[in-house]
Amino acid sequence: MFRRGEYHRFAGDGAPYVYLVPSAAVFRLDDISVAVLDALGERDYEPADLALSLAPRFPLPEVKEAVEELVRVRAIKAFEKRVPQPGADVTAASTPAVVPPPRKRVPLTTLVVNVTSKCNLSCTYCYEYGEDKITEASTKPRFMDETTARQSVDFMFAESGDQKMVHLTFFGGETLLNFKVLKSALAYARERGAELGKAVDVSLTTNGTLLRTEIIDWLVENDVGVTVSMDGAKEQQDKYRLFSNGMGSYDTVAPNVKEFLARKPRRPVGARVTLTKQNLDVVSIYRHLADEMGFFEVGFAPVTTSWQRDYAIQDEGFFEMLGQFKFLAAEYLEYALAGKRHRFSNVRDTLEEIHKGLSKSHPCGAGMGLMGVATDGDVALCHRFAGSDSHKLGTVTGGVDHAVQDDYLARHHIENKTDCSTCWARPLCAGGCYHEAHTRYGDTSQANLHYCEWIRSWTNTCLEVYATIAERRP
Ligand code: SF4
Ligand code: SF4
Repeated sequence: MFRRGEYHRFAGDGAPYVYLVPSAAVFRLDDISVAVLDALGERDYEPADLALSLAPRFPLPEVKEAVEELVRVRAIKAFEKRVPQPGADVTAASTPAVVPPPRKRVPLTTLVVNVTSKCNLSCTYCYEYGEDKITEASTKPRFMDETTARQSVDFMFAESGDQKMVHLTFFGGETLLNFKVLKSALAYARERGAELGKAVDVSLTTNGTLLRTEIIDWLVENDVGVTVSMDGAKEQQDKYRLFSNGMGSYDTVAPNVKEFLARKPRRPVGARVTLTKQNLDVVSIYRHLADEMGFFEVGFAPVTTSWQRDYAIQDEGFFEMLGQFKFLAAEYLEYALAGKRHRFSNVRDTLEEIHKGLSKSHPCGAGMGLMGVATDGDVALCHRFAGSDSHKLGTVTGGVDHAVQDDYLARHHIENKTDCSTCWARPLCAGGCYHEAHTRYGDTSQANLHYCEWIRSWTNTCLEVYATIAERRP
């Protein structure tokens, strides 16, 4: 028997496409394939009946060829018709098995080092300081010392296996509050990298308040990739990004960023925007940060928070955000077709994942190729969990506790997220961010079901952009 496989239909520039869930591949359909999938969309078919039903419209050999190809790419499932047993469900295809955790150890490619948990801003929505914080900051040093920073670098190389390139990212709190330590950690990482024959890519995230000339010089000279957390123009930035005395930070950050960008650093400087219920005007934020300020790229993420918070984005907010994302995606497409670069990184990131045919066993690299280090050298799933004793995977001196890591990876595997088992977007979403799940549901292994509609609609938009580019600029 033939049965519809797992796929999502969409169009690229008017041409029919499918996104194939088992292989995460994008496949263009011809007329016969469309007819075959339409027929199987109605019911299961015996091979001969399927061919017969299409015979008036298409020559038999071509139908056979199309069916074979669709079976090969798993848009169609072929299965044996079972003899019905009393009480048995004869329509059920084989039951999906729970896949064991990946046995091959994934080398560490990115280490995020929280050089401080202190910040000179007190943004209300911050996951580290705000109402949803999960880290035990009060029991840890506020600043990482040089020894721990060096040990973090050693840990990174030791866990990186055969990787020839490693990514070292500094994070905070406000990262630049511990400039002295990050400076010496970078020098040490480059020195050790050279000895070990490994390239080290260094980047950091900052709120931009401390980008003084001396620091800018160092960032440019050392090719450090920088992401500035910034929420838009003055009115938008000053809603939540406040100094502890209540003063807005825009007037401090904007001139610093301008000075930095004027130096034309070789590494692109990006902005990272946190969207809240009160700050959802994505297009105007983009215009300000990309066009007026000149950031190389601008990425947006909804605030991570429990739904009760005043700034949490609710259903209608996700809808509003989606509309604005779609507007910028259409603009991105226009630019791409004209051979120009658009700076909306959310589209670019998803297009890259689609192009690579990424099918995720876990939503992100946290706890696998990516880990976070707290100021005391504890290693956690990622930077957002760094400092949380309940999400600890080891220490920079003792290494990773592989039993804890394996257990974590097994519990968070997509095949164990039953809510996601029938979702066509799961190769790219895989249930979403663990930190978001922890904040919303108190459980990292919970799928982020509050934003499924948004994820599916956004993924569909990116698939359309991808296929339209393939049609017009193959
Ligand atoms: S969280 Fe929702 S959108 Fe994501 S894979 Fe699961 S069901 Fe799909
Ligand atoms: S768990 Fe969330 S915050 Fe951490 S790396 Fe994954 S997506 Fe990012």
